[in-house]
Amino acid sequence: MNEHDWDLETLAVRAGQVRTEENEHSVPIFMTSSYVFGSAAEAEARFKGELPGNIYSRFTNPTVRTFEQRLAALEGGESCVATASGMSAILSTCLALLKSGDHVVSSRSIFGTTVVLFNKYLAKFGIETTFVPLTDLAAWDAAIKPNTKLLFLETPSNPLTEVADIAALAELAHKKGCLLVVDNCFCTPALQRPLDYGADIVIHSATKYIDGQGRAVGGAVVGDKKLVGEEVFGFLRTAGPTMSAFNAWLFLAGLETLSLRMQQHSARALELAVYLHDHPKVKRVHYPGLPNHPQHLLARKQQAAFGGVLAFEVEGGKTAAWQVVDNTRMLSITANLGDTKTTITHPATTTHGRLSDQERAAAGISDGLLRIAVGLEAMRDIKADLDRGLNLI
Ligand SMILES: *Cc1c(COP(=O)(O)O)cnc(C)c1O
Repeated sequence: MNEHDWDLETLAVRAGQVRTEENEHSVPIFMTSSYVFGSAAEAEARFKGELPGNIYSRFTNPTVRTFEQRLAALEGGESCVATASGMSAILSTCLALLKSGDHVVSSRSIFGTTVVLFNKYLAKFGIETTFVPLTDLAAWDAAIKPNTKLLFLETPSNPLTEVADIAALAELAHKKGCLLVVDNCFCTPALQRPLDYGADIVIHSATKYIDGQGRAVGGAVVGDKKLVGEEVFGFLRTAGPTMSAFNAWLFLAGLETLSLRMQQHSARALELAVYLHDHPKVKRVHYPGLPNHPQHLLARKQQAAFGGVLAFEVEGGKTAAWQVVDNTRMLSITANLGDTKTTITHPATTTHGRLSDQERAAAGISDGLLRIAVGLEAMRDIKADLDRGLNLI
């Protein structure tokens, strides 16, 4: 049976593995910086690219390659390049595909560090970014200029879980000669495959759900052979933000349970969203799985489940929100997500704390808003931990 016939769960466990003559069952870790050649002629042929094979682990490494091929198979892409972090996946994509004088249109609801990368660092090299509301297709259209090369988004957004119509944005991007890049960190290919909806490139922070257990920092770029296999890979082997073999080995193990975990994270988040929606102390819940979510039907179409992240608003602003945070005994107070451990964040004073009051209001981040990334603990314990603070409001 050919890998192309396998379903996602099978690919997650088996794709990309090539056994050595030791017949190992698990994927081995190749901790080696370089590789040897059989002869001077073979060295020349490999350096010229005439002969396939490893040269140096900044370029390729067998453990990293297994991870890349497995993730490419899961996303339905031709090529994948693994990177040292999610941020270096975004940086590598931008530096490989953009040049001075180019313009980017980005959702304004993206990871805060990505905003800093665009506004502070890409701007230094003459690449300008315009930010638009994620779900406003007309605003995306209006922001595209003759020099726009790339549209960038995350869906669902963090923390308000707004859902973008990937197919509609891909159509717009291609009509205007731009590439659509989707950061698929929140859903992972287990729940959403942006390339199937016409996106050109998928970005991952493997640090989150791909590892799933909060152990290592890593990232990846997935797309076609030309854009990713040649252009992004060319930048990576030159600039060097490569993934280590050890981390690739951890992420491979993460991929093997990804589908099971994402289904559980989603089922639990839905249960918690319903619970909080009916809770007398909660004003509003943001979760795409709730029928009153503005893009509920789109999420049903585009995603296999609704993901592990939700946000909710309590009456009483920052004081009340902090009371919920400070009365937890089990939940981890951290801005991280994608872990087996449930995490709680107060976005207004952490992830969105650098924004001005007006910017925060425009982004819909109220002082009473809390974000939960639902882990794999018993639901009864998660609810009880939140109830302690909620009941004091
Ligand atoms: C965490 C995160 C990143 C950055 O990834 P790192 O691995 O921390 O560099 C990018 N995008 C999203 C959506 C994230 O959550």
